[in-house]
Amino acid sequence: MELSHRIRHLTTDSDGGWGIYFRVREMIDSGQDVINLTIGQHDIPTPNIILDAMNTAAKDGNTGYAAIPGVPALRERVARRLTERTGIETSYDNVLITAGGQAALFAVHHAVCDEGDTALFVDPYYPTYPGTIRAVGAVAQPIITRSRDAFRPRREELETNAIGATSLLINSPNNPTGTVYDSSTLMMISEVAKAHDLWLISDEVYDTQIWRGHHLSPRSLPDMRERTLVIGSMSKSHAMTGFRCGWVIGPKEAISRMINLTTHTTYGVPGFVQLAAAFALDQGSTLEREIAAPFDRRRQLAWDILNAQQTITAIPSDGAMYLMLDIRATQLSGNEFAQRLLDTHHIAVMPGESFGFAAAGHVRVAMTVEDERFGAALHTLCEFASSFT
Ligand code: PMP
Repeated sequence: MELSHRIRHLTTDSDGGWGIYFRVREMIDSGQDVINLTIGQHDIPTPNIILDAMNTAAKDGNTGYAAIPGVPALRERVARRLTERTGIETSYDNVLITAGGQAALFAVHHAVCDEGDTALFVDPYYPTYPGTIRAVGAVAQPIITRSRDAFRPRREELETNAIGATSLLINSPNNPTGTVYDSSTLMMISEVAKAHDLWLISDEVYDTQIWRGHHLSPRSLPDMRERTLVIGSMSKSHAMTGFRCGWVIGPKEAISRMINLTTHTTYGVPGFVQLAAAFALDQGSTLEREIAAPFDRRRQLAWDILNAQQTITAIPSDGAMYLMLDIRATQLSGNEFAQRLLDTHHIAVMPGESFGFAAAGHVRVAMTVEDERFGAALHTLCEFASSFT
């Protein structure tokens, strides 16, 4: 009996740097004190008012099967939020509620790619991207970017790869690099998408974490509404990672087909979770800013520490909860750097290699421990790096 080629080849044989993540878990479970800067999860938990709203919704009876496309209150709330943020009229039937941004990424690739189609994504990337693309039978093709371009894609490379491709997945603000695409980059991307008739999949799960510039969704660019699929999530904006609540926003026909997919995969998201999400979104940008604030504060703290040393080059983090550090001056790979830092100082960071080819020789630092501990860890990391020069 053999398992399918697809399931066996979802990910490659290498651990992609995730070995460190599992080591950290083991160390913490065995009682060791590790400063864990690996995972994109808030140290400050979900606000109590959201938990209360969830509890009330559950007690009010929202514990049965919920409407598969999402409960009307949440679909409408998400549509209104996007209309407000982009100026593009969006209604509930442009919205499908999914089990987190991850299920949304899966649904959109399912919706646009046929077996063997080429789906492009920008490298460095959130590590599930290639596996998600392969999971729908498509060919995952990275667009390599460079540290010196602040990891923005170059037009000529997009153009070359776009020939014959079906879709392009972008992510701004970016995990892992913290890059926020400016309007000229997004215009260029949208021009390439139109010229090559690509679906543009825009992962905007960090849209509330912007430290410089502002968030622009390509859905709002000229003639992009009908070819753009926006991925959103409550995970990062409202510290609701475990709730598994996200969405796709797109043309009505695409949404209606993806509702059919949802019927045959997750069968929807729990009603009490969705109503808690609708309540959280009703709190508006004040709550979103409050949840994002610690990351901006720590980014500035980190910037001061990094500016006072020469070994590490920091990539300016304009958004998201991460810092990308170029550690090539140490002559170590990202993986060696991360493993040795963990061995010697019990500080855990992610090797850049986990996020693709373009991030080799870098490490990603999640700014997800409280300020003082974070600052101390970064000082130690810099001293550790300088010991190799
Ligand atoms: N996209 C990006 C860029 C992410 O970093 C993440 C989670 N870390 C996701 C999508 C998926 O988020 P979730 O499924 O929790 O909504």
